[in-house]
Amino acid sequence: MLQPKYYGEFGGAYIPEILVSTFEQLVKAFEEAKADPSFWKEYEEILSSYSCRPTPLTFAENLTRYFGGARIYVKREDLNHTGAHKANNVMGQGLLVKRMGKTRVIAETGAGQHGVATATMAARFGFECTVYMGEVDVERQSPNVFWMERLGANVVSVKAGSRILKDAMNEAMRDWAANMDNTHYVLGTASGPHPFPEMVSWFQSIIGTEARRQIMEKAGRLPTRVYACVGGGSNAMGIFSGFFDDPVELIGVEAGGKGPGSGLHASRLAYRDSTVGIAQGYKTYFLQNRDGQMNDTHSVAAGLDYIGVSPILASLRDSGRVRFEAATDNEVLDALELTVRKEGLIPALESAHAFAQAFKEAPTMKKDDIILINQSGRGDKDIFLIADALRDPAWMEFIKKKARDYGA
Ligand SMILES: *Cc1c(COP(=O)(O)O)cnc(C)c1O
Repeated sequence: MLQPKYYGEFGGAYIPEILVSTFEQLVKAFEEAKADPSFWKEYEEILSSYSCRPTPLTFAENLTRYFGGARIYVKREDLNHTGAHKANNVMGQGLLVKRMGKTRVIAETGAGQHGVATATMAARFGFECTVYMGEVDVERQSPNVFWMERLGANVVSVKAGSRILKDAMNEAMRDWAANMDNTHYVLGTASGPHPFPEMVSWFQSIIGTEARRQIMEKAGRLPTRVYACVGGGSNAMGIFSGFFDDPVELIGVEAGGKGPGSGLHASRLAYRDSTVGIAQGYKTYFLQNRDGQMNDTHSVAAGLDYIGVSPILASLRDSGRVRFEAATDNEVLDALELTVRKEGLIPALESAHAFAQAFKEAPTMKKDDIILINQSGRGDKDIFLIADALRDPAWMEFIKKKARDYGA
């Protein structure tokens, strides 16, 4: 029998009757993998030979001097294959799919990063792969669609609803119900019905385990504060999990978009514009109106632009264990430019939210305090967005010339 897990009042598994046996099978496979040390060994082996684990910890010496407060360290999830922490989750779920004897994977994707990661994993393991993506996102994220198709994935453009991430998730769930015998749904973050929040957090916990060991080696003590950006919550759960039992302050940073009161943001926990509800198979804080209709959200970082949030983080907010803040689009672009200029690190726009909040707090902290920032991904992929936002003239000229070359 499926015993859906709750974290405080959040979580659960609100799934269609037809999928119950599939979820039972998944929970069983997950529980067996957790109890089998050889599974975690195989997981570490594939991540070290195929991705870049353990990822390094970098001391940001120039930024530390610039702010003149706490010492700043950066955990380098940007160095994973496909450019972000998403590799940890998809490779882990890929190994589970092999264990369950399934041959086909499906995924939802918004910005396309999780789609590319899943298509990569499918190519590596020889699975069939279908990726659901809202029609609006297909148009916005054409480089990622290009790579998913090269990797052999069938990209389905979803024309229902607002044609964005939440609509793609609903479509993927429908596919799963129709094809559950041979298909596994590779959910991309620590949200959704049980066991996904716990399972994805478990795979991502490798970040926190490494980071704790590395900071003890390099700095000789625990960090004072740990910062991570929060979309669905997987990279935050990953790094935080290394420090839950320590006297370390944990800060989740959400997409503040155009700021509080603007309605144009994706902050569920910091701005407190959200309410508790049940959607997409689980109970958490959603950005929704009084009738339960989901609001439109906005962020310069496509990967943080989500209406719900991990039920585990929702519960950790309510218990006070994790503090939630939001960084606005402008603060994020400033933080990104400064990080590139001072350290030669190029954080993804998502990750730059964590940097932005850390930069607000670093100057007021003591010199022997330590800040740990999770750089969840690399920003090279964001060149179109960043160059647009900075109105870079040479870039605009380059795009115009390209368009002329194609006869536009
Ligand atoms: C997808 C993504 C995120 C947001 O997802 P979480 O599940 O909240 O971690 C953050 N950073 C990067 C680089 C991403 O690709």
